[in-house]
Amino acid sequence: MTAARTATAQQKPARIGIIGGGIFGATAALMLGKHFDVTLFEQGDDILGGATYANQYRHHGGYHYPRSTETIREIKEAAPDFKRFYGSAISSEFPSYYCINAEGSRVTAEAFLKTCDRMGLPYVREYPDAEFLDASTVDLSVKTSEATYDYSRLKRLIRHRLKKERVTLKLKHEVTGARIGPQGEKVLTVLQSGRKKEYAFEYVINATYSQYNDFCRWLHFPLRRLEFRFKELVIVRIRTKPRVAVTIMDGPFATLVPIPGKRDLYTLGDVPLSIHKKTSRVRSASARNWKHPVSRWKEMFARCERWFPVLAKAQYVASMFIVLPIDVASNEADARPTECTYHGYGCWSILSGKIITSVTTAKKLLAEVRALEKKRATL
Ligand SMILES: Cc1cc2nc3c(=O)[nH]c(=O)nc-3n(C[C@H](O)[C@H](O)[C@H](O)COP(=O)(O)OP(=O)(O)OC[C@H]3O[C@@H](n4cnc5c(N)ncnc54)[C@H](O)[C@@H]3O)c2cc1C
Repeated sequence: MTAARTATAQQKPARIGIIGGGIFGATAALMLGKHFDVTLFEQGDDILGGATYANQYRHHGGYHYPRSTETIREIKEAAPDFKRFYGSAISSEFPSYYCINAEGSRVTAEAFLKTCDRMGLPYVREYPDAEFLDASTVDLSVKTSEATYDYSRLKRLIRHRLKKERVTLKLKHEVTGARIGPQGEKVLTVLQSGRKKEYAFEYVINATYSQYNDFCRWLHFPLRRLEFRFKELVIVRIRTKPRVAVTIMDGPFATLVPIPGKRDLYTLGDVPLSIHKKTSRVRSASARNWKHPVSRWKEMFARCERWFPVLAKAQYVASMFIVLPIDVASNEADARPTECTYHGYGCWSILSGKIITSVTTAKKLLAEVRALEKKRATL
């Protein structure tokens, strides 16, 4: 038993159920597991298999959000917490270039630089090698030291710590319902190998990302207005060295980012072609239930070669398909905040924006659970 657990031993440690073993659910489990009796439910056969796997692994510095100072501020505030907790999974193997497209960008070169200066985002005006960027297509190129996450390292680290914190990890356990019991306990219905079982908790955290609204519906909490984007990220092999990341801003353009720890591999995203489908009609959406379409990698290569000439000699490796849920209210400014909402009744939901905010969010949850526990102890 940890010291903190022993110290509160007169009162049994509260039981906390966390739904979703992505970076947000797993980090909350690690933080809360030091003090409480935590069970983490993941429907897949491993942790970090959802959006935390199928993304571009950017350790965001803020450059991607020139129209949302709120998102930049949140990223900057969250960075020290993430570094302290997961520092060894941050990779600075290559520089990251941000460029403003010559035509049709929602942000001008001047406005982009002003935002960087105002928000304290360091850069130097510089172009990457001509193989990685046709300079005639852009008005501006800046070199930054924005890092990336090494996904494999992050996963190993989290797996190891989950064992150490003695979080009960339940893989292949899908939460299919929730209700509030007669004593105020939260009862989750969980499906495993075709059998349903119920588990009771004092507190429950919903960290299911694109399935956010399922939990709200079960417990009659307000639903969030979400738009779901069904996206394809293409993995490509490029042998040209040295490696660099290049992102063309701000609108229907493209981005090429090396995958840390994978010598020749990159993720390629193309803003219009990556999105196979958009809808706000469904309440929840999961990549698991989405019939994967035919890959558009050939069209993406053809369109993106105008910026990235190196694609002419790149090889297609695979595609990752994922659903991106976006809060309709924050979409206009292209904001991607992480929101952790307390619904009351000992229940929270997280709608995450960026991985870098996962540790700060878990800290906030720990503070809120502790405050509620103090109240519970005086009852
Ligand atoms: C295309 C794309 C690119 C992105 N690029 C970046 C980037 O470069 N950098 C960055 O910081 N962020 C990026 N993001 C955002 C980032 O990926 C997400 O904010 C983050 O990974 C979400 O983590 P999560 O834990 O909330 O969700 P997830 O990682 O999706 O985890 C949710 C988990 O919940 C499980 N689950 C769902 N319902 C249930 C249930 N009923 N019972 C049990 N388990 C359940 C799922 O199986 C899943 O494992 C990107 C997102 C997308 C879609």
